[in-house]
Amino acid sequence: MNEFSLIQKYFEQLTKNRDDVALGIGDDCALLLPPPDHAVAVSIDTLVEGVHFFSHVDAESLGHKSLAVGLSDLAAMGAKPAWFTLALTLPELDETWLKNFSSGLAKLANEHNIQLVGGDTTKGPLTISIQVHGFIDPTQAMRRSNANLGDMIYASGHLGDAGAALQLALQQLSDDALTDDDKAYLQQRLERPTPQVLLGQNLVGLATSAIDISDGLVVDLGHILKKSGVGARLNLDNIPLSTSLTKLDAKVAQALALQSGDDYELCFIVPPQHYAEVEKRFKGQVTRIGMITDDDGLFYIDGNDQLIELIGTGYDHFRH
Ligand code: ADP
Ligand code: MG
Repeated sequence: MNEFSLIQKYFEQLTKNRDDVALGIGDDCALLLPPPDHAVAVSIDTLVEGVHFFSHVDAESLGHKSLAVGLSDLAAMGAKPAWFTLALTLPELDETWLKNFSSGLAKLANEHNIQLVGGDTTKGPLTISIQVHGFIDPTQAMRRSNANLGDMIYASGHLGDAGAALQLALQQLSDDALTDDDKAYLQQRLERPTPQVLLGQNLVGLATSAIDISDGLVVDLGHILKKSGVGARLNLDNIPLSTSLTKLDAKVAQALALQSGDDYELCFIVPPQHYAEVEKRFKGQVTRIGMITDDDGLFYIDGNDQLIELIGTGYDHFRH
């Protein structure tokens, strides 16, 4: 097998064909037909072995996660997925690995009707880059710069699960309180995150701003606050935790929910005229966690009525 037969065997027919792809894999470029009156939302993410995933992680999960992180960016903008490209750097030609990787990738892609339209294949340290493309009305996109004083802050799902799984794997967290089911649940939250693609699209017109939580709530919400020139207060008792996470020490669970990344839930901002609608439509799916204020930064009020600032400690590749 060579580079070209590898592409043909594993990637050429990987995903379902879409009508808006005039030409897919196999030429120098793909030819794509975006709908009129929409912007193409574009985002790229790279996963590097040993940095973003453990070497022992199974290839099927890795295929899933490589696309999930990109879909999550589309979700955070409110965009509808359409196409993606894949740049794959492989240390060796391992057909078992390729079969499992492409299978995980294809399953998630076909769930979201996103078509693989091209890529690049090279030899070197295992690295996966995926660029996703989606459609959005540019006037309605949930930009980070749109939060205003008096808006409410919401989060989807549960926070901190992926961070707990990572700390368990690194033996930085005791698993004494957790059952095998809890551990399995947390591990799949880390290795097979669910991008909130439908929620993102359904929030368009209701939420003004959104971000997906990849680096930790404090850091990611901080991006919205900075871009919007506002502050915020969180109600820490309302931060949504999974049943598994609540079995940990309360302080540990809270720190994970605030500071750990890789959950790929959405944090979004809703203006007063839409609170009621959001809480009715997405009941059980989203939680109100705080409010946009004119404070200088992100704060919470502790048990003694003191205003305490939250400083992000999320992962930064170039810190030190
Ligand atoms: P070129 O040399 O013109 O860049 P390549 O030989 O790299 O072309 O790729 C041939 C075709 O296969 C192109 O259409 C390219 O987009 C596609 N391709 C290469 N690698 C991948 C991959 N990992 N996944 C999907 N498509 C790929
Ligand atoms: Mg090429």
